[in-house]
Amino acid sequence: MPVPKQGGSLADLKEQNLSRILSSVAQAGTITREEIRRSLGVQASSLSRYVDELRARGLLAESESIHLVPIGRPTQPIVFARDRWALLGLIVDRHEIHAAVSYLDLTVITTRRFPVPDSTRVSGHSTALAAVAAWATGIAEQHGLTLLAAEIDAPGALNRETGDVYRSLLNGWGTFNLADTLQSALTHQGGADARPVAIRIDRDTNAAMQARLRDLDAAPDGGAAAELSGPSAYFGGRYALSGGIFDGGVVRGATGLAGDFGHLAVDPHGEVCWCDRTGCLETKAGLAALHRARFGRSTPIHDLSAEGPRLLAELQASRDEGDSATLAVLADAGRWIANSIDTIAAIANPARIVIDGYLAQLGAPLVPTIVTQLEATRSLPPFQRIEVVATDGDPEVPLRGALLSALLTVVETPGLAVRG
Ligand SMILES: [Zn+2]
Repeated sequence: MPVPKQGGSLADLKEQNLSRILSSVAQAGTITREEIRRSLGVQASSLSRYVDELRARGLLAESESIHLVPIGRPTQPIVFARDRWALLGLIVDRHEIHAAVSYLDLTVITTRRFPVPDSTRVSGHSTALAAVAAWATGIAEQHGLTLLAAEIDAPGALNRETGDVYRSLLNGWGTFNLADTLQSALTHQGGADARPVAIRIDRDTNAAMQARLRDLDAAPDGGAAAELSGPSAYFGGRYALSGGIFDGGVVRGATGLAGDFGHLAVDPHGEVCWCDRTGCLETKAGLAALHRARFGRSTPIHDLSAEGPRLLAELQASRDEGDSATLAVLADAGRWIANSIDTIAAIANPARIVIDGYLAQLGAPLVPTIVTQLEATRSLPPFQRIEVVATDGDPEVPLRGALLSALLTVVETPGLAVRG
């Protein structure tokens, strides 16, 4: 079901305030009423009414733990409720769907991988989505929960507002409505009186970026970060080189492809990319390109999601043996990426570049080369304050990002919890 826009009536104003409270809880995890009141500037009596309303909708609960305050009586912090609603997150690749069901507080109940029976047709993905719908509905029921929101993330150009896929070369998709496909599978599970689940779709890299930046900005004690870092550009991708731009929120652009750095044209005399354009960054630093540069074997685009883990493992093993040809290939990729950051810095002026996904897993010498190359070009203002952060490249991050995005759908539209 499409996520409704908020307008200007009094009822809408109330929903907006409820949304702001949920947003505070989403950011902090655990928060006291006093902390919410101070950060939102609402009166204690209104806040109390709003929190009661969100508790009645099954969205918030009082934490079991008691928060001791220096002066006055102890208060019970507010957390997301775990007894009514569940979230569903999906990462859809050509060969498989990785799914997770979680509580509203993002604690994962369980995850499962579903093979796509015939990856040459969209109907193969429809069949797999039907299996996911049956499984997720069953898991929620077992825990006495109802699915409230779902997020489907996949590579390609996807329209978050309508649920339409424009095109996904990696998944072999043309135009179709991915959100409707899951919705009908879920409705089929629930029968005629099935409650619609709020479903949104996004480019997988955006979801991964969102989860990763949240990790990086979290305070070490697990509380809310005192101050979120500035605008960031993100380089990641699981098998193909991808990226994203974050500036207070994900920057998506007109067709959802803003920040898809893998297809920056960096070499007019370079090779033809699998997207049919010439000299994309993907042809210099994509996982398949790196593997081919070292081992001389091409990986067809339609095999990339299945073969990606093996390509990465072979490059890592060869790097760990200190193979000089592999080290040279990785350093070269680092230089191409640094040159691209140079371009991105002039457009987006980010405070931070985050290196994640397979690039982070390849590590040195790729990442250190990016840093030294950037150091050498730091003369213009956009480059002077760029911090380069490399992560551990944890492959579970995209799925956590999908769940986080599903939660943010609920945060933005608390009315979902009252519709029948
Ligand atoms: Zn390309």
